[in-house]
Amino acid sequence: MSASDAYDVVVIGAGAGGMTAAAIAAAEGLSVLVIEKTEFVGGTTSWSGGMVWIPVNSKIKQAGLDDSLSDAADYLASTVPEIENADLRDTFLKRGPEAVEYLEANTEVRLQPVKTYPDYYPEKPGATVGGRVLEPVSFDGARLGANFGRLRPPLPEFTLFGGMMVNRLDIPHLRKFGRSFRSTLRSMRLVSQYALQRLRAPRGTTLHLGNALAARLYASLLARNIEIWFGTSVEHLLVEDDAVRGVGIAVSSGSRPIVARKGVVLATGGFSHDQNFRGRYFPSAAGAVSAASPAGTGDGLRIAIAAGASVGTHVASPAYWVPASRFQRADGSAGVFPHTVTDRAKPGVIAVNRYGNRFVNEALSYHEFVLAMLRDGNDAAGRSFYLVCDRHFLWAYGLGRIRPFTLRLKRYVRSGELIEAPGIDALADLIGVERSALSATVDKYNAHAQVGLDPEFGRGTTIYQRHLGDAGHRPNPCVAPIEQPPFYAMRIYPADLGTAVGLRTDCHARVLRNNRTAITGLYACGNDMGSIMNGNYPGPGITLGPALTFGYIAGRHLAQTYSEPRAQKNGHEERQEERQERGPA
Ligand SMILES: Cc1cc2nc3c(=O)[nH]c(=O)nc-3n(C[C@H](O)[C@H](O)[C@H](O)COP(=O)(O)OP(=O)(O)OC[C@H]3O[C@@H](n4cnc5c(N)ncnc54)[C@H](O)[C@@H]3O)c2cc1C
Repeated sequence: MSASDAYDVVVIGAGAGGMTAAAIAAAEGLSVLVIEKTEFVGGTTSWSGGMVWIPVNSKIKQAGLDDSLSDAADYLASTVPEIENADLRDTFLKRGPEAVEYLEANTEVRLQPVKTYPDYYPEKPGATVGGRVLEPVSFDGARLGANFGRLRPPLPEFTLFGGMMVNRLDIPHLRKFGRSFRSTLRSMRLVSQYALQRLRAPRGTTLHLGNALAARLYASLLARNIEIWFGTSVEHLLVEDDAVRGVGIAVSSGSRPIVARKGVVLATGGFSHDQNFRGRYFPSAAGAVSAASPAGTGDGLRIAIAAGASVGTHVASPAYWVPASRFQRADGSAGVFPHTVTDRAKPGVIAVNRYGNRFVNEALSYHEFVLAMLRDGNDAAGRSFYLVCDRHFLWAYGLGRIRPFTLRLKRYVRSGELIEAPGIDALADLIGVERSALSATVDKYNAHAQVGLDPEFGRGTTIYQRHLGDAGHRPNPCVAPIEQPPFYAMRIYPADLGTAVGLRTDCHARVLRNNRTAITGLYACGNDMGSIMNGNYPGPGITLGPALTFGYIAGRHLAQTYSEPRAQKNGHEERQEERQERGPA
């Protein structure tokens, strides 16, 4: 084995968890290799909203809001009732704010508070209306130089003009284009900036949301000359004397060992796309649809289990859920649109099951929405669910990937993604539901919607639901009748945003065996680590908040157990620059 095959730390997977652990370990002076299976950094993180839920973070006060450790603990106690891994949630509360401060001081990560984004159960003790959630500050992708092409692009459905990202604050202005002078000016500035950027790059370089977070982490790795081997697959862990000493990667001649002197961090993003693990941990009603990046195939779990790791299965739910519609893109690829916040809670849409009945308050969180689908599906796969609305709703708010103010709907109708009918009875025929049932459901909803009420499910009764509604719609931002033909339906499926079942760890992010002892040299973070929320979804950013926190904890712990002389590392750092991105032979 050559000297170049040894590092202090080997990180597997370049998403939020892995890149955080790598950046921190390097900031602490360790030599780090990141192994990434695909040709891109970013994983699902780069497709995500980039929301990072960290209670009691230091920015809450700057935003003029309040939070306290005891409020946050009360809130978590009522929304994550399981006690099994309460120690991990305590660690998260205590060290999450520290992780943010350290990241901002030592890396390119910059976060800002989202002032108005309520916790998902605002009626529970200790809930806040905003500020617990942080978002990445926009990032100029041009700063990555030639490496910009290595950043996984956002989902095309979340960009405009084939590659322009917009943030939360831009959207209301774009909607008022042509109707407000200020908004028109701002929109034109955005578009002209984008046009200029496209002269130099294949997509817009002003990055927001999860793409900005992934870009900022990637920039942090580049700044410290951390080696990243793209297109490289780890086959197994090297185990000696009950401790993990490195990894074996697949090369043309077989397997090549890479030594990790201090430890290996598993951060391969969970198992959303592995049908075996899904079959083992998901209810059958969940089906096979996932909104997560296809590279999450459970590799981290598989190689850890082979080395004696245990998986935490005492969860309220095995995954974090989102209702999703499916479609085919113009290039023939299959698309999955996650209905997170854009349509379900807006006034004038309902969800129905195959009997034509409503089954949920559509304005609840995406996770609660799918839990209701799973309950309604009674654990039987393949049951159909539809969102139903009228032309006015579709025009004003859009549906799925169909944007507001879309004039030409024919291509969506032709492909079957959007179902259109002149009346509710005809719509019922097209979606295979009893006519009388669907019209009774719509009539019942409309009768109260005229006055902004939803006695059946209580749409718009909490600050969270109203936040996702249309603030300009009175009296209830989440309720309006469905009455202007033509009428539309779109099929939705239960899908996951990421897995909650994962490797058991201790408070240092070290992977545990079944007997709860730590495997020396093996760490997990991101979705490879069993979620500290146990499949409950208390607020926006509850996977990325823990991913950054435990990535940070892993990086710091690896450094604290470091014992090699520094002199040896400096020589290594010199070699790193020339090997940057060279990859394995
Ligand atoms: C549309 C959408 C919006 C979301 N919004 C939010 C949000 O706002 N806030 C939030 O908290 N969560 C959000 N989520 C969930 C969140 O994005 C994920 O839970 C999170 O990104 C997972 O981070 P990770 O680091 O574990 O994995 P990833 O970001 O997926 O990174 C894993 C990396 O590991 C690589 N990899 C896989 N296998 C191997 C292997 N064998 N060897 C080497 N590399 C490997 C992958 O290619 C990938 O690059 C959202 C999810 C979706 C789909």
